[in-house]
Amino acid sequence: MWLSEFGTLCESRTFVCRPFEDCMTKSFASQADLNEKLISFDRLSENAYAYTAQGDPNTGIVIGDNAVLVVDTQATPVMAGDVIERIRTVTDKPIKYVLLSHYHAVRVLGATAYAPDHIIASRDTYDLIVERGEADMRSEIERFPRLFRAVESVPGLTWPTLVFERSITLWLGKLEVQILQLGRGHTKGDTVLWLPKDRILFSGDLVEFDATPYAGDAYYSDWPTTLDAVAALQPCKLVPGRGAALQTPEQVAAGLASTRSFVTELYAAVKRGAAAGKDLQRIYLEVAAELRPKYGHWVIFDHCLPFDVARAYDEATEFRDPRIWTTERDKQMWSQLEA
Ligand SMILES: [Zn+2]
Repeated sequence: MWLSEFGTLCESRTFVCRPFEDCMTKSFASQADLNEKLISFDRLSENAYAYTAQGDPNTGIVIGDNAVLVVDTQATPVMAGDVIERIRTVTDKPIKYVLLSHYHAVRVLGATAYAPDHIIASRDTYDLIVERGEADMRSEIERFPRLFRAVESVPGLTWPTLVFERSITLWLGKLEVQILQLGRGHTKGDTVLWLPKDRILFSGDLVEFDATPYAGDAYYSDWPTTLDAVAALQPCKLVPGRGAALQTPEQVAAGLASTRSFVTELYAAVKRGAAAGKDLQRIYLEVAAELRPKYGHWVIFDHCLPFDVARAYDEATEFRDPRIWTTERDKQMWSQLEA
């Protein structure tokens, strides 16, 4: 789009083309996304708050009788400092727990700022950090520099100190906090936090709202079933991985439905192309044309789609498990698909 409108866009809407080279080619991933987002800090109940930022990664806050738990940390300790400032406007209880909904760098590398007693993750998330945490950190920082403000404050990988399989229940005084691994979807380690008393769910990137699901490390075949398990809890409110907090059952249903339709439509289209023997680049162009009218307005659509189609093609052909993304593989895939 930018290429065909290059002349007029650069003259009349220079904010679109920053830096200038972006007008010439589609910038890699989100390197050209430089606009800071507006942050919201929403109260969901006396025990639950949502820190959201117009489609940037969300952080959840659970306030119990004697302690605070944070769901996903933000990308750097400096960025996490902003979350802590908001928390301190509503409670002075100690932040004792950090829960990692999954292993992605942009969610976990701010953990040290909270100085928690425990960093909680599923066994599968722990295994992914061991296997690919370093590669993922380098890759994510390069893909989306704006989301790693003050990246020099990151001390290294975030290591869980409390690892569970399937589920663990935490009592924050009288507040029951269920931490559940309901199935694979966005990654194999996906973990949600459920507050049964208030029927509030923090979903991580299993559910997005008005934001494109990143599926570069996904299990497409499993994701819809895992969404069924989320829906079976019948949440009244849901904090997605990206996008605004969903504050009514109708909004929750809409978030679940739109995430499901994106994932299933994309995978079905890629499977069709692979079964017809088409190559990856042709499939990518066809899928992009098919999905853009419905989903192209979602945040990070252009960033995610090449990764999402590449992973879908892998899963539809010969790779049951997602392959590790490295900075080199990122660039190679991008130049192949966006050529
Ligand atoms: Zn993620």
